[in-house]
Amino acid sequence: MNIQNYINGQFENPINNEWLDNYCPSNGDVYGQIPNSSKEDVENAYIAAQSAFPVWSQTTIEERSRILIKISELLEANLQRFAEAESKDNGKPINLAKSIDIPRAASNFRFFGNAITQFASESHESIGQQAINYTLRQPIGVVGCISPWNLPLYLFTWKIAPAIAAGNCVVAKPSEVTPMTAYLLGDICNKAGLPKGVLNIVHGLGTTTGQAIIEHPEIKAISFTGGTATGAHIAKVAAPMFKKLSLELGGKNPNIIFADCDYDDMLETTVRSSFSNQGQICLCGSRIFVETSIYDKFKIDFIAKVKQLKVGHPSEETTNIGALVSKAHLEKVLNYIEIAKIENGIVLCGGNKIIIKGFENGYYLEPTVIEVATDECIINQEEVFGPVVTIMPFNSEDEVLQMANKVKYGLSATLWTNDLKCTMRMSNQIQAGIVWVNTWMLRDLRTPFGGVKASGVGREGGFEALRFFTEAKNVCIKY
Ligand code: NAD
Repeated sequence: MNIQNYINGQFENPINNEWLDNYCPSNGDVYGQIPNSSKEDVENAYIAAQSAFPVWSQTTIEERSRILIKISELLEANLQRFAEAESKDNGKPINLAKSIDIPRAASNFRFFGNAITQFASESHESIGQQAINYTLRQPIGVVGCISPWNLPLYLFTWKIAPAIAAGNCVVAKPSEVTPMTAYLLGDICNKAGLPKGVLNIVHGLGTTTGQAIIEHPEIKAISFTGGTATGAHIAKVAAPMFKKLSLELGGKNPNIIFADCDYDDMLETTVRSSFSNQGQICLCGSRIFVETSIYDKFKIDFIAKVKQLKVGHPSEETTNIGALVSKAHLEKVLNYIEIAKIENGIVLCGGNKIIIKGFENGYYLEPTVIEVATDECIINQEEVFGPVVTIMPFNSEDEVLQMANKVKYGLSATLWTNDLKCTMRMSNQIQAGIVWVNTWMLRDLRTPFGGVKASGVGREGGFEALRFFTEAKNVCIKY
């Protein structure tokens, strides 16, 4: 199936007629083509967005809200079709796409459709100066949204929904590795009555299409989720044009397990936080630190559970782990496993490619657990972004805190303990944007989402996202 750009409410081929192959990770086949859009396509998308802006930015909150909620309802009504498309395009188990990816994409539109009705600005009476100040929150204009391949529609809509709710018009680019559900979204937007030009979706490589978006002098804000190196590049390009930036980047998140935790709950959740979506979630707890007194028991129990995970074709309901997203990514992950071995890491389970009968060219990998002797090895410092976790013991709170913080990233952390004081001390001192205690990936869309250090700049979620997509203008009236 060939994919087209969605510009000004219409589906179009790329002007230069350049196309990229779209691969199916579960069998390695090319199953369609996508545009490799040029600067000219991005310019057309920009012109459509700019033309739509005067009307959309003045459209009532009630009407914008109604359209966003309609998009949400249509996504829900098409859950099965979207979930199948996401699973085929990304390699993720159909169950995950059905229970997480697509429902969450629908929630993003519903949430911001509601949030915009509650988004208010402040006013300040300057007593003694006979003046009143009030703050307008005005949409920026045309904004760019660029998203990665791991949670394709989920992260794409996490940006688009607040951007359009706040009255902006959007030029968006999904990952070239997983373009399918973003393509399908265009039709849903038309059916929901989103005016043409409010959302424009251009497909293509980061270095061509993405680059044209970030270089565009009139696209005044970029919301980006992806790798840290790409984020650094975007920041460099955007800085001289003073673009507003939100950068959600990589992670190397610690999962810290104290001996006093609720063990069974911890064990079950740790399997999930290690291997959900083939370990390809920026929030996965890829560094597991376990208090020495329960380390040996944890090791045995954890490996036993991991060995029960079924690696299989993504369309099978019983599959726990599907295919990795691409051949290149599979090779990158396998390379990290080799590096870990060279650095004396002990592979406790997994570590190998899996050949599935009938789908021999699919990108399957065993869930892999590596015991490391030091937190300073490469596998513990660099983001692998696959079904690979490390485990090592710790003796004290101070020691584990130091190890948790001794990476360049700071996205999320998970703590397992019932000790309130330890929870407070650790949560205060861990360098991360999100700390989960006795849970993982419990999301409330009102909360600020993002990372510190090399994990990014800015926060998404709730009113933080609406603040990002608006400019504050203070008006001071003397009376
Ligand atoms: P990536 O950086 O390679 O690509 C992300 C997007 O940026 C893609 O759409 C790509 O085409 C585009 N891009 C690439 N080069 C560009 C350029 N020069 N100009 C403009 N756009 C460009 O990342 P990926 O491999 O797709 O995704 C995996 C990464 O995303 C991991 O590092 C992961 O941790 C991160 N991620 C972070 C979060 C978060 O919320 N912090 C969430 C999910 C994924």
